[in-house]
Amino acid sequence: MKTEKIWFVGAGPGDPELLTLKGRRLLDGADLVVYAGSLVNPALLAGIRAECHDSAGLTLAEIMALMIPACRAGKQVVRLHTGDPAMYGAVREQMQWLARERIACEVVPGVSSAFAAAAAVQAELTVPEMTQTVILTRQEGRTPVPERESLQRLAAIGASMCIFLSVGLMDSVVADLLAGGVYTHATPVAVVARASWPDERILRGTLGDIAEKVAAAGISKTAMILVGPALGSAETASRLYAADFSHGCRG
Ligand code: SAH
Repeated sequence: MKTEKIWFVGAGPGDPELLTLKGRRLLDGADLVVYAGSLVNPALLAGIRAECHDSAGLTLAEIMALMIPACRAGKQVVRLHTGDPAMYGAVREQMQWLARERIACEVVPGVSSAFAAAAAVQAELTVPEMTQTVILTRQEGRTPVPERESLQRLAAIGASMCIFLSVGLMDSVVADLLAGGVYTHATPVAVVARASWPDERILRGTLGDIAEKVAAAGISKTAMILVGPALGSAETASRLYAADFSHGCRG
């Protein structure tokens, strides 16, 4: 299938089986693939006929200089992003560039590492009567975060949080989460490094001890921090299936 558009495809968190069927089909039929090398599993590209480029060392202009002429020449072009492209994928600047060049694009979602990490620890992030909200965010690093959505302010909501790009700043993450005034030293936390990869690691703890555990394990990148009361033991789990739950949808 040839298309006059560029496909942004979510590669999923690592396990090649966590790529969508549509993503697989597009990769198999691609002529050119530009992939985010540091986190995309190379196994996804094994055996495909496309010319593949790691975007890690490339500027935005260089990425565009690869993709645009190929697309105009009628080739099938896939821009492969880790997890889901909507989260910290820098896709917006690429799409804006393509719009200026009058090149269409389409996005194929992927399994975000937030959900791969939740799966790894078998957590439901939305537990009735505990929290019904999930916050996907990050600690401020080189990329600034608006003050109104600082970790401290978001932590004051007391919901489940999935914190990207921040495990290298664990001490400040913990300090900010506690400063929100709702989570305590006893609030459960799970850190999942390289979720769904063969070398996945899971650390469980509380805001009181997780920073120490992360430091001891030497985890400084590619990890998801999950925090909130829903990360606690299953004993406090959903009342959805309790005998006295008589209305509403089960699903
Ligand atoms: N679009 C991606 C996120 C890219 S930002 C997604 O939806 O998952 C990169 C950050 O994502 C990392 O710093 C880490 O916090 C997280 N991440 C990506 N892959 C991961 C994995 N396999 N396990 C745990 N965290 C991961």
